Amino acid sequence: MNPPRDLHGVPPVPAVFRFDNSYATELAAHGVAWRPAIAPSPRLVWFNAALAEELGFDAGALATDPGGAAARLFSGNDVPAGAAPFAQAYAGHQFGGFSPQLGDGRAILLGEVIDRNGRRRDIAFKGSGRTPYARGGDGKAAIGPVLREVLIGEAMHAMGVPTTRALAAVTTGEPVHRETALPGAVLTRVASSHLRVGTFEHFAARGELDLLRQLADYAIRRHDPELEGRPDRYVRFFHAVAERQAALVARWMNVGFIHGVMNTDNTTISGETIDYGPCAFMEAYDPRAVFSSIDTHGRYAYANQPLIARWNLARFAESLLPLIEPDDPASAVPRVVEVIDAFPARFEAFWLDGMRSKLGLSVALDDDLALAADFLALLERQSIDFTLGFRRLADAADGDRTALRALAPDPSSLDGWLARWRERCMGEDARDGAVSPGGPASAAGGPGGERARRMRAANPIAIPRNHKVEEALAAATLAADYAPFEALLAALVRPCDERPGLEEYAKPAPAEVTANYRTTCGT
Ligand code: AMP
Ligand code: MG
Repeated sequence: MNPPRDLHGVPPVPAVFRFDNSYATELAAHGVAWRPAIAPSPRLVWFNAALAEELGFDAGALATDPGGAAARLFSGNDVPAGAAPFAQAYAGHQFGGFSPQLGDGRAILLGEVIDRNGRRRDIAFKGSGRTPYARGGDGKAAIGPVLREVLIGEAMHAMGVPTTRALAAVTTGEPVHRETALPGAVLTRVASSHLRVGTFEHFAARGELDLLRQLADYAIRRHDPELEGRPDRYVRFFHAVAERQAALVARWMNVGFIHGVMNTDNTTISGETIDYGPCAFMEAYDPRAVFSSIDTHGRYAYANQPLIARWNLARFAESLLPLIEPDDPASAVPRVVEVIDAFPARFEAFWLDGMRSKLGLSVALDDDLALAADFLALLERQSIDFTLGFRRLADAADGDRTALRALAPDPSSLDGWLARWRERCMGEDARDGAVSPGGPASAAGGPGGERARRMRAANPIAIPRNHKVEEALAAATLAADYAPFEALLAALVRPCDERPGLEEYAKPAPAEVTANYRTTCGT
């Protein structure tokens, strides 16, 4: 028997994943079957063995030496048996304006697997060549942005933020031309799906209602199966997506993350963060922080993110109206508006839950919002690093306020708030009947305190600081030196462990670096 042939007539390599492709088979009209480009000289520069294991990857079947079988697989050169490479169509509102035709211009869904926990996961390439959706683009990615996605995505995952994951990074041996010539690379990305708000907008804008309905039913089957078959499933689906977005953006805000390009094509149905382009972590707390060089009006500034998420959901709702009420879409407006109007309160509830954990509170009380907001106002007035401010508050829970006070130009400005917080903690402990190891007098403290331990688990010490990320990407790009990248990643995957030798990853960048820091989409 002849071996099966892939789209270019090249025999596929042995099955390393047990593929179970639903998108390319059930939604064949929602994109185009397309093969990744051939990389002249692929080299594996990073491989996520733990994630591969979770995906049920047969590691024994592949050599992970730099030029080996894994390099050929994760460059797209060898298409494994069972894969159904496919470029997905989508549209999107970008910086407020509608682009009806985007799609996977330089990405390809290789296939789907059911992981060891029974969850369906997409395995996709980014930077694997032009597709029919490439428009003017070259279909490529440079090593810097690929490694940025690895670093920030894996850090977000380690911090418990829903996100796509990175499985492998390969250099192609081919230059990519941006402002200068850069080493080309391919990222292998794993996602619980690549369905976006923009996927729905694409078919809604074209008036392709049958395709839109197929897409929605598929998305429901995949992400909200309990809604399948219900007559009111589309409005409930909208509600479920809104809940996931509210929870997601609350987590971003809790860790000081600025996505930078919250267009509807980068807004997932799954509630995972996607597309780490011009993103950055805040240093000194500033709600207006924006780092993206293309975001000249600060549309996607830190504090705007919940507002933008709601705006994006309104675009999603518009796409779903003809499914909710096919005979009279306008009559469905009040039902989606109810969800959109509830969004700010839902976001705030998720955000406040996160803040309680960060502040070491386990009981919800009415004045928690004011307590959290007042701490943030202090961080802002005193230009205190967001991440370290919370982390050093954990030390204060252990009875040592020196490190926190040392962050403030005027340390005494913290005292009033700290007294309030301590009282709040003591009230909680009295209510619980709990006594911290340091005794009731140090309920907000005491060496080895349970509260301090919980706070350290909720407040990372190692985040992808912008200057450390840039340093790692520069070494990889200019000198093929991956050591800074590896060292940074090793710190980021255990973000809450304060370990000797890793102090440099906890330190803020010099203020003048942050003031001039700009990320570009130069993907
Ligand atoms: P992104 O900025 O990565 O979210 O991409 C937005 C849109 O532009 C998507 O449709 C991408 O596929 C497309 N795109 C971005 N960069 C390229 C490129 N170098 N070649 C082709 N398409 C691209
Ligand atoms: Mg995108």
